Amino acid sequence: MTKFTDLQLDPKVLQAISEAGYETPTPIQAQAIPPALEGRDVLGIAQTGTGKTASFTLPLITRLNRGRARARMPRSLVLAPTRELAAQVAENFDIYAKYTKLTKALLIGGVSFGEQNKLIDRGVDVLIATPGRLLDHFERGKLLLNGVEVMVVDEADRMLDMGFIPDIERIFSLTPFTRQTLFFSATMAPEIERITNQFLAGAVKVEVARQSTTSETIEQALIAFKPSRKDRAFAEKRRMLRALIKQEGEALKNAIIFCNRKVDVDTLAKSLKKHGFDAAPIHGDLDQSVRTRTLDGFRDGTLRFLIASDVAARGLDIPAVSHIFNFDVPSHAEDYVHRIGRTGRAGRLGKAFTLATPADDKYVDAIEHMLQKPLPRAEPLSIEDEKPRRRLRAGEADKATDAAARQDEAAAAPAPAPEAAEPAPAPRQRGQGKDARRDEKPASAERKPEPERKPERKPERKPERGRSRDDREPVVGMGDHVPDFLMRSFRA
Ligand code: AMP
Repeated sequence: MTKFTDLQLDPKVLQAISEAGYETPTPIQAQAIPPALEGRDVLGIAQTGTGKTASFTLPLITRLNRGRARARMPRSLVLAPTRELAAQVAENFDIYAKYTKLTKALLIGGVSFGEQNKLIDRGVDVLIATPGRLLDHFERGKLLLNGVEVMVVDEADRMLDMGFIPDIERIFSLTPFTRQTLFFSATMAPEIERITNQFLAGAVKVEVARQSTTSETIEQALIAFKPSRKDRAFAEKRRMLRALIKQEGEALKNAIIFCNRKVDVDTLAKSLKKHGFDAAPIHGDLDQSVRTRTLDGFRDGTLRFLIASDVAARGLDIPAVSHIFNFDVPSHAEDYVHRIGRTGRAGRLGKAFTLATPADDKYVDAIEHMLQKPLPRAEPLSIEDEKPRRRLRAGEADKATDAAARQDEAAAAPAPAPEAAEPAPAPRQRGQGKDARRDEKPASAERKPEPERKPERKPERKPERGRSRDDREPVVGMGDHVPDFLMRSFRA
């Protein structure tokens, strides 16, 4: 078996990982680190949880430790699709680089420009960023990308879902073609294949655990039930969820509960709280400080239930999650694997329950097709005990159920706007509009998921007092894509 000491890593890196308690490299690390250290491009097909962050961070630190940063010219770039993932990479970097003098800056929405600007001005070795925020800095002339020696793209498939591929292509084209590229994706969609063919050269392909597999340590159950009426599905699913939570009892230490839509994340969190559960939402519309606090609470065990959207929870490293509940069946089959992969990590046991109504049949089929096996079924639980206790006379039953449903809706108040009021779904493919590609969540024909996240770049484009000519707001009427020559300064 490969040992870390066989991998030609910098001794300072070896010291840090030994202190972090890592004994042996994970398969993706054992395969990706040697070619990365040789300076070769690497195409890593790996999901989160496999140790992939270290598989690019460790060779990156080893390589950069041999040189020095120059003002405004980062020596390496790590691009991640969401703020949380970028922040997580930054945390990993801090751990592994603690015995080096390497510096980093984190460019993500929701974190103030000022401090990061100062760092960049001084010169950083590693710049960790979301694509939109990085391009903002670049367009403001705060940053030069022609000193980039290594570019890492993490979670490329999620970048594709979020419409970031044009940004990634642009960033690639702004960095020297001599750079080394380390590119990670859980899947190889045709669009991902295309850009790897275009921007990677002679890449070594390393692959661990197919994306369409789920861990053996996760016990899965699909609870399919028919709501008493279509318009009661949401309320009855909430009752089913509460019954399930109660059924799991002590075994349920903590859980992530996934909804497909941000609005449902909020509603469900409120509903659970009103029913006495310790729950908080996390999605892209929440303020960064709130998201961070919520996640910290969930990690340190002070928060028991995290209600999440796919994007907000994707790739988050929370080592001990006992239960996953899919309050909604994910409309993209691969999200099922990502969701339930939040539990059963590092050999621990985990349980994953999925609530499904007949409207979800085709999504369940897609998941089973991908997994190439049926999901184990479990009997729906009784949700009767949450109905009014009084014995009902004939004819009263329906009214009472309506009242119970209304009561439950009230618990979830304020009720979300009806679906029709939500923004139009975001197209999944590139080239279908710049606004849509800023959304975190892909569209699904039926469910109209609302955009997960407001565009990161917009708020950052606000003109600041005293900004120089080349920093100013894009020309009104030309959208986001003002041709470069119009933005350029006339000064030398
Ligand atoms: P990642 O796939 O990068 O999100 O990593 C998942 C988790 O595995 C993180 O908590 C890492 O700290 C941990 N990890 C990464 N590499 C190793 C290793 N070689 N041994 C033990 N844990 C590791």
